Parts: sequence; structure tokens; C-alpha cells
Amino acid sequence: MTAIETKTNLLDLDLADCEALVVGLGFKAFHGRNLFKWMHKHGVVDYDAMSDLPKSLRLVLPETTEMRLPRIIEEHPSSDGTNKWVMELHDGQRIETVFIPEGKRSTICVSSQVGCALNCSFCATARQGFNRNLSVSEIIGQVWQAARRLDRSPTNVVMMGMGEPLANFEAVVKAMEIMQDDLAYMLAKQRVTLSTSGIVPNIHRLREVSDVSLAVSLHAPNDALRDELVPINRKYPLAELLPACKQYVANDKRRKVTWEYVMLDGVNDSPTHAKQLIRLLEGVPSKVNLIPFNPFAGSDFGTSPLERIEVFRARLARSGIFAMTRKTRGDEISAACGQLVGRVEDRTGRLGRVRVETNEPVGLIKRVASR
Ligand code: SAH
Repeated sequence: MTAIETKTNLLDLDLADCEALVVGLGFKAFHGRNLFKWMHKHGVVDYDAMSDLPKSLRLVLPETTEMRLPRIIEEHPSSDGTNKWVMELHDGQRIETVFIPEGKRSTICVSSQVGCALNCSFCATARQGFNRNLSVSEIIGQVWQAARRLDRSPTNVVMMGMGEPLANFEAVVKAMEIMQDDLAYMLAKQRVTLSTSGIVPNIHRLREVSDVSLAVSLHAPNDALRDELVPINRKYPLAELLPACKQYVANDKRRKVTWEYVMLDGVNDSPTHAKQLIRLLEGVPSKVNLIPFNPFAGSDFGTSPLERIEVFRARLARSGIFAMTRKTRGDEISAACGQLVGRVEDRTGRLGRVRVETNEPVGLIKRVASR
């Protein structure tokens, strides 16, 4: 093993870890706070520039620690202001992070895994297969890089990039704590959103340890169709998902679950689907984000026509469900929802399988949908 592999990456640490590390080296805890603040609030990853740390601490830290971040290797600015960064990790894997400006808001869409293991049929990331979880430093490092590029903290973070955040629970929760920390990125709980395809046991766990906003990739109003579109539904069906989400927001009257619903032409966008959705969400404080499907090379789905999306939206709205159509951003640079791919050395062996499965997925789904 090389020396580098045994060093602690300081960017993997939250505030408490940072204090503990510094105390362990024989220094006062407040130096740990300062160290944390230097890295995240000021973006300084050079021991010598941390001018209020004791010289002796600055000398001893590099013996056992390092500060390692993902590297931005490509930048793809789009004419709508969206920017996609391709970041390379220490092992050569690549992930993508998207910056979405909107008026005074600046949202960073952060990845949680290299690839994704969940195989949703309409998502480009799924086609890449899965390699590994990101570490805390690789997750918070995306926010760190964005803050440097923008010269300020982003106003919002959405865990909606590559990967399933609740399948990388500990690292994602710790990274989100750092996002919320006053000595770091200072994001309020409404400004950090985690999106999940519905790993139900971890929605319950999240409720116990975190207060971030919850978004759920629903995409279908019944189990038969959702089993096809979001295969994790076979393990955690709607009858388990809905109560978990309801419970997540139960303690705060102002909170709502955000439901993401990708509009797939002829698959999930009929008035009957809207009616089923209204019934499904009864009693759950909800807002619905309708996402026009973003096509990618080799995908077999089509985008619902805008008029049909509007009819669907209006139907939800009439029944009292707040619903909006998500503006498609960054599609010209393949940075829109479901288009992030990075460079993933697949370890699932899925790529061979997918080629077979893609022969006729839309036909299969239509059969299910018309039941
Ligand atoms: N794995 C998590 C985080 C990804 S969030 C989750 O599933 O929630 C990205 C969102 O974009 C999800 O709601 C996903 O279902 C949606 N999406 C995936 N592919 C898409 C596509 N081609 N067009 C539009 N939305 C898509």
C-alpha cells in the first residue's frame, strides 16, 4: 500500500470528525473548527495558507492527512446558462455535476455514485452500469468545486445527479450535513433536496437523521407500470413507499413531498393515469414535478406532447395538487434529468444485458400500461 492510501482525506470529515482529529493530534478543538472553515467556507486546501492554525499543527497535519478533491476536467457551458462539469476521481472514474442558474438562485445538481445500479428503463445513467459509491469528499467536493467556480456558495443543492443517493446512505448524509453547516456552505434544510427512486427502509432512516427535503421519482401511478419503469418498485411497492413518504413530512405542516413524474409519450401520460395519481396521493402533502422526457442516444421512449403534459398538470391542479412542469435545462449539453453519464467502468455486467433488454422495452411497457 502506498503512503497516500493510508492518509486521511480531510475533505471526508464533518465538523465533529475534524475537531476529533485535531484533538487527537494534541491541539485544541477550535483549531479543528478553523481547519474545517478554511476548507469549506474559504475553499483553501493548502495547509500553509491556513494562517490562524498553529505552525506546529500545520507541520504535523500533512504527515497523516491530505486534502483530495475531484478534478474538473471538462466544462460544457450551455446557451441557457446551465453548465456541466465532468469531474475525474482519483481512480480515473468520471462523474458529472450540473450548475443551473435561475434568477437569484443557483442550483448544483450533485452525483452520489459512479453510475447507478437501479436500471430505470428511461434513464441514461442506468445504461452506463454501476461502478462504486462516491466518498464524502467526492460528493462535497462537487459543491466545493462549484463554489470556487462561482466565487460563492450555491443557493441550492439537489442530490439528483448520477446514482441513487439512498444506496450510498452514510456518505450522502454526511456530505449533506456539511452542506448545511454554518461553517461551510450554510444551506437551510429547504435548500438541500435528496431525490430517491424509493429505497423505502432508507427513507425511514433518513427521517431519523436528517431534515433535508425529499423528492421521489414516482413516474407511474400503479405498481404494474412502476415495476417496469422503476424496477426497485418490485422490491418496495407503492403500498410501502407512500406511507414512508407521508411519514417523512408528517412532523412539519409546511413540508411536502416532491414527486417527480417523467412524461413518457403513450406510457404514463393519459387522463386515466392522472386520475390514478390523484387517488394515490390523497392524504399526502404533495407537489408534483412533471418532467418532459429527455431523450438520449439509444432510448426508445418519446416525450409527451406539451399539450398533453398541460392537460395532465391541469387535472392534478384541479384536484388541489400543486403541480408544475419542470423546465428542461441543459439538454443541448446532455445535462438534463436522466442524461448524465460520466465515464463508468461497469462492474455489474449489465451492459451486455441491457443490449438485449433494449430490443423492445417500449412495446413491453405499452402492454403493461394498457392493462
Ligand atoms: N436516483 C435518484 C436521483 C436521480 S434524480 C432518483 O431516481 O431519484 C434524476 C431524476 O431524473 C429522476 O427523477 C429520474 O427518474 C429522472 N430521469 C431519469 N431519466 C430521465 C430522462 N431521460 N428524462 C427525464 N427525466 C429523467
